[in-house]
Amino acid sequence: MAATLIDGKAFAAKVRGQVAEHVARLKEQNGITPGLAVVLVGEDPASQVYVRSKGKQTVEVGMNSYEHKLEADTSEADLLALIDQLNNDPSVHGILVQLPLPEHLDEDLVINSIAPEKDVDGFHISNVGLLGTGQKSMVPCTPLGCLMMLRDHHGSLSGMDAVVIGRSNIVGKPMAQLLLGDSCTVTIAHSRTKDLPDVVRRADIVVAAVGRPEMVPGDWIKEGATVIDVGINRIERDGKNVLVGDVDFASAAERAGAITPVPGGVGPMTIACLLANTVTACCRANNLAEPEGLTA
Ligand code: NAP
Repeated sequence: MAATLIDGKAFAAKVRGQVAEHVARLKEQNGITPGLAVVLVGEDPASQVYVRSKGKQTVEVGMNSYEHKLEADTSEADLLALIDQLNNDPSVHGILVQLPLPEHLDEDLVINSIAPEKDVDGFHISNVGLLGTGQKSMVPCTPLGCLMMLRDHHGSLSGMDAVVIGRSNIVGKPMAQLLLGDSCTVTIAHSRTKDLPDVVRRADIVVAAVGRPEMVPGDWIKEGATVIDVGINRIERDGKNVLVGDVDFASAAERAGAITPVPGGVGPMTIACLLANTVTACCRANNLAEPEGLTA
């Protein structure tokens, strides 16, 4: 393997350490403990695992974790009433509603009912608009984690050609905005892009957020490019269940300059950035200096 491995697991541990230091300082100097409320509706097994993991890591960095588990048939009115209560609770600095929601609930309505300054997922329409116009916002966790790793590896990203494959609201689009904010020349590719291999071959930075196992082969990667693989795909290989990314790691690592593995790349950064966003939200709510390097 020629490429440098970008170790998301180690990087996430470093981010959590920075968050924990800032939390300790907030407690000691200001008597404030940041609090993150996570709302889970229903019993989707994957969501339950995510919520448990978020709660555990929240407590580990010294913050308060508030878990609200609601029945799958909870009415929209009851969910909105809970969000309203959390919006008005000064001990809650971040609110996250675990997605996907059961079908009878309007996801956009629910997300847009969270107070934007507590929207630590960065999905509220106000935060989307603020990010798009280059203003201070809450930044979606997964793309924020990708940006942190890219900045750490390259220093400045200015002038680099970046291709983001995928245009979802939670990964592709905010990722493209962040790269543009760091003065990359950005192309957003998707399922209708003509000659995707050729588009990807031009890129100094490739961010793959597609959801198709190992779709990007090594011969699409420009020699020396940095590859950030957001994909998490569960497949069966040699009779075992394994996790793979959207990039064919083995062949891409032969040509890339640096690459994130799956697992152990972008994945661990997502919750670390959720914790970072919560401490940032807490500082903003209290007119205190924000921790450096933990937001875009
Ligand atoms: P999504 O909403 O399904 O979006 C996928 C995007 O890929 C769409 O824009 C789609 O294009 C594009 N696409 C699909 N097939 C394509 C093809 N053949 N060529 C080019 N583009 C294609 O997915 P997402 O929520 O952004 O997630 C993407 C991946 O990241 C998934 O594997 C997901 O599990 C993973 N993920 C990981 C984390 C993490 O913490 N590491 C967080 C979030 C997501 P169209 O718009 O044209 O359909």
